[in-house]
Amino acid sequence: MQHINQIYINGAFVTPQGDELFDLFNPATGQRIGQVRLANEQDALDAIAAAKRAFAEFSQSTTDVRIGYLKRMHAAVESIEDELTHAIIEEYGAPISRARWMARHAASVLQDAASVLENYNFTRRIGTAEVVMQPLGLAGLITPWNSNAGFICAKLAAALAAGCTAVIKPSEMSATQTFIVSRALHDAGLPPGVFNIVTGRGETVGAVLSTHPDIAKVSFTGSTAVGKTILRAGADSLKRVTLELGGKSPVLILDDADLNVAVPMALQAGFMNSGQACIAGTRILVPESRLAEIEALMIEEVAKVQAGNPRDPATAVGPMVSHKQWERVQRYIQIGVEEGALLLAGGPGLPEGITAGWFVRPTVFSRVNNQMTIAREEIFGPVLSIITYATEEEALTIANDTPYGLQAYILSSDPQRAHRLASHIDAGRVLINTLAHEPLAPFGGFKQSGIGREYGTFGLEAFLEPKSILS
Ligand code: NAD
Repeated sequence: MQHINQIYINGAFVTPQGDELFDLFNPATGQRIGQVRLANEQDALDAIAAAKRAFAEFSQSTTDVRIGYLKRMHAAVESIEDELTHAIIEEYGAPISRARWMARHAASVLQDAASVLENYNFTRRIGTAEVVMQPLGLAGLITPWNSNAGFICAKLAAALAAGCTAVIKPSEMSATQTFIVSRALHDAGLPPGVFNIVTGRGETVGAVLSTHPDIAKVSFTGSTAVGKTILRAGADSLKRVTLELGGKSPVLILDDADLNVAVPMALQAGFMNSGQACIAGTRILVPESRLAEIEALMIEEVAKVQAGNPRDPATAVGPMVSHKQWERVQRYIQIGVEEGALLLAGGPGLPEGITAGWFVRPTVFSRVNNQMTIAREEIFGPVLSIITYATEEEALTIANDTPYGLQAYILSSDPQRAHRLASHIDAGRVLINTLAHEPLAPFGGFKQSGIGREYGTFGLEAFLEPKSILS
């Protein structure tokens, strides 16, 4: 059993004033593996005060100094890759290849921010004005459980690159990963108070960050419902916000696609991160004329997708993070059946041969209509819907007929045609024949998938305010 009894404030690990103990679980077994003592409102206030004290000096630091800090943080997080990978598997259940990628990503985002800073000009001339990009102030950074370490490092990297100081509120369900990352970041030796890490509940610590007048900016990744709460809570002090929220991403398989490539790729896009991905391609739009072929291939391909022990390198889909999340996904599978969709693969209950843990059968529904609940709501599990279209125009209409707009995928053997369609899709990212990530390109959503962008120059500027000086 692991006991995490410390948070990080003003450059030191301290015992939180909050005394609630929160259980941590291994989702692959359903067993309790530890407890974290949660911070309370007072701890959040102490962290804000520390970040405020540090801001005066840090906001004046040179870019060279901050590049140095980011590089040290990168090296420190890189050095814990194995420990972090292990914790991600143990506490979150990510399949090992994914967990390894996540641990590396937590380090690489710090290096990426350093390179952005190396090439960024904080001053430019516009007409008669000198325009200076100034750090916004104190940043409140709130992360979800599905990529906790990565978002701690990515948000912190952008905030610090800009010259802001930060209070981080990580997901309470990811306390082991947070603690490992906190130790590494501490070892990088930044001045006290520049960043503070306060693991606590959203309704307490998160609420303080989203209402406190000294917090100028909240960067949040999580559900659309909580994102809206944060936006409302920040309205009184007109906080700047970056909100990275949910998605219901379309995967357009065009009629010219090589199905032997497109179908496995669509499944990878849908089942990535065990389906617990905001960018998961959960609505697979297919030409009516090729439905039968696609259904037959899907059945074959889903049968190859291994759900189970995340430590087995052959596993593609690990458990859901919690029992609550498992129940939620099961409920959606039930709704799909009740709505009359055709269950092509998977279904309710545990995968064959598994008796414990919060595993879901990789599930694909076909003959889904875009108005069905399973096509409209974010399920956040390995449950995909095949929807047919008759014409290219209809494919685009269905793709955009969603409250979300985070990511879209186009699979086609005609790149020009795919690019033409991409220009009509309302999503922050469109991936054509690839699942690759571009760490320097902006990331974020249209519509209810969020506000603002992260990564690269756009992500840096989300922590800056332009000031025009005229003389
Ligand atoms: P969540 O919204 O429940 O929680 C996210 C974080 O917000 C947690 O740290 C939580 O403690 C905190 N929180 C909860 N209530 C709060 C409040 N009232 N005030 C301030 N903070 C509060 O989301 P989750 O269940 O942890 O993560 C899953 C969701 O995150 C999914 O909807 C998914 O789509 C989304 N997500 C989005 C992206 C993206 O980049 N767009 C990436 C990953 C996950």
